[in-house]
Amino acid sequence: MKAVMFEAFNARPKLVTLPDPRPEPHGVVLKVEATGVCRSDWHGWVGHDSDIVLPHVPGHELAGVIVAIGKDVTKWRVADRVTVPFVGGCGSCPECHAGHQQVCRDQFQPGFTHWGSFAEYVSIHKADLNLVALPESVDFATAASLGCRFVTSFRAVVDQGKVSAGQWVAVHGCGGVGLAAIMIANALGAHVVAVDIAEDKLALARTLGAAVTINARSVTNVVEAVREVTAGGAHVSLDALGHPETCFNSVLNLRRRGKHVQVGLMLGDHSTPAVPMSRIVAHELEILGSHGMQAHRYDAMMPMILSGKLKPELLVGKEISLEESIDALISMDRFQGTGTTVITRF
Ligand SMILES: [Zn+2]
Ligand SMILES: [Zn+2]
Repeated sequence: MKAVMFEAFNARPKLVTLPDPRPEPHGVVLKVEATGVCRSDWHGWVGHDSDIVLPHVPGHELAGVIVAIGKDVTKWRVADRVTVPFVGGCGSCPECHAGHQQVCRDQFQPGFTHWGSFAEYVSIHKADLNLVALPESVDFATAASLGCRFVTSFRAVVDQGKVSAGQWVAVHGCGGVGLAAIMIANALGAHVVAVDIAEDKLALARTLGAAVTINARSVTNVVEAVREVTAGGAHVSLDALGHPETCFNSVLNLRRRGKHVQVGLMLGDHSTPAVPMSRIVAHELEILGSHGMQAHRYDAMMPMILSGKLKPELLVGKEISLEESIDALISMDRFQGTGTTVITRF
């Protein structure tokens, strides 16, 4: 098969020919029809992810068609259209037994713990647990864009934030994660305040359902601005960027007993940011994380997509070829377009 591979961190990946993968007894092999290019792939390529063993094939936001099945798989057939969340469970740890595969102790992450989907074919483990059926009406590029940023936002808003109609939700950062969160919170009937420093992203946030937008560069105090428009603070607030400043603001702009959900990753120097613990105690705030979403929770999200309440296709940006993904991957830290770049030609 054709695949994009890197043999050293920071060295330019190459388009190579590799043996086609064979399914594990509990797994399947998919023909990849679409796979997103994500900043996490860039972090992996520069060496920020200790799970990666070289040489490596990146790619974790994927959708495709089953072409081979292991002997122990019972729920799937060849030619089924499927996708996966970026974290797959092992099926045997206490977290998996409790249905929380997104925090499994022995995670299967294509493109990190195993070779990923910047390739014609990819091997997926524990298929009965980790695959999600893809309805005919959801195209592959849209499906690929769900597995990472979109499902993490869905879990943050629905399962962790427990957002309900009429609540105020603040979203700090209007990249892929933030825009998805705005769309989802709006679909639930919440009033969304979107915060960013880029006017084009704030304009997109408004078209996706933000009731109010705040440019953090043009107000003197972001926290005060959010508290003012929400008449005392947000019920739920998300740091969708992953930065000490947005995290801090997101906690402080909550009303009493509000919930902060950390969605943006905190890596390297940012991994232990300051949080206003005295306020958390005095106002009984809740601090939560969101790390992907279990395959079985797609059952709650997919009907909202099929009914048109959620339109993840609006977040799909450029479609490129496997060969073009090399430049897209290594420039991921410099060019952050609005919308997910997806490989759809192999
Ligand atoms: Zn991703
Ligand atoms: Zn597990």
